[in-house]
Amino acid sequence: MTADGRRGPRFPLGLPHCADGATIVLRLMRPSGIRPSAIGSLCVALAFLLAPAAPAQDEPPPAPLPVFEFHSGFWLNLHHTLYRQARLQRANPGAGAGIANLTAGEQRVWAAAVGFYGRNYAGKDLTVSLEMILIKNQLGDFETCEDLAGLKKKTCDAGLPARLTEALDSAAPVYRAHLWPEHDRSNRRWIAAVAPLVRRNGLDLAHRLAEIYQTNWPKERIRVDVSSFASATGAYTTLDPMRVTVSGADPRNQGPEALEVLFHEASHGIADGVQDAIFRECRQRDKPIPRDLWHALLFYTTGEVIRPLASPTGTSAGYVPYAVREGLYKRGWENYLRVLTQYWQPYLDGRVEFGDAVAHMVSAL
Ligand SMILES: [Zn+2]
Repeated sequence: MTADGRRGPRFPLGLPHCADGATIVLRLMRPSGIRPSAIGSLCVALAFLLAPAAPAQDEPPPAPLPVFEFHSGFWLNLHHTLYRQARLQRANPGAGAGIANLTAGEQRVWAAAVGFYGRNYAGKDLTVSLEMILIKNQLGDFETCEDLAGLKKKTCDAGLPARLTEALDSAAPVYRAHLWPEHDRSNRRWIAAVAPLVRRNGLDLAHRLAEIYQTNWPKERIRVDVSSFASATGAYTTLDPMRVTVSGADPRNQGPEALEVLFHEASHGIADGVQDAIFRECRQRDKPIPRDLWHALLFYTTGEVIRPLASPTGTSAGYVPYAVREGLYKRGWENYLRVLTQYWQPYLDGRVEFGDAVAHMVSAL
């Protein structure tokens, strides 16, 4: 569901570029070998609010939501679609193009792009490969551009590797004609469905989770790229800058569960404190660090915090948290559920201190 890496370091692919419209953030280049935390104090993000972005397609611009900023971007969706198709073909070489009714010419162009992804990217993990993270972020930033080589607008030169630019630009007309209208509609449907939940509960949830993890919620709204495909888990988060990618088509992300997925993902960006506390307790006790305990804790916590909100009666009844529904605790996390229920829940209920709860969990494993 997320990147395993605690920090997703960020290197520019080239000089900072500007997409037209939207909010552009220029990032200073980070010399290799410098820790993200060190660069954090050096790196001042300069945000320039340019002319307002063109209204998306033919829908009126919605009133701004709190906490999250949703995008349905052409290039990011094309990138994930090609990646997915390339992985499908890798697993099953007989798999078709993934698009019906292509002309021979379109077939050739699309197959070439999928082949390029197969050779270069299908073996890489979207959530942990620095290269994949940088490409994804760059494509998000250039979502309003018609092409990525800057042929029509110089500012649209995304600075991506030339062969990748060529693959994306050549596949774009095929994608635009055959898949994008439905992908975009599906993304926007998902955004429209989750928006009232975010509007109603977003700020409270953000405050509550920040309080639980004893930190501050990010001041800026968190960018969420909605994509037809978003890794095998249906959603993932990359850090520095924190961005969430979520599949609007994934059956796991529908209904009130969409809200849980969003806040689980966002929690990845604010849960360093709990990871550090777990590591510290383990070191003090000379115990191995329980693999993914912090991640199980994130799932548990988001589930418990969302539960009363997601239930129509306003109680904890009737809503099954993601980790329970998807059987995560049955896949090696049984002990984690036990210690979370026994020692973490009292902290969520305000009955014990953060440090004591973590110490108890670690000593009980
Ligand atoms: Zn996660």
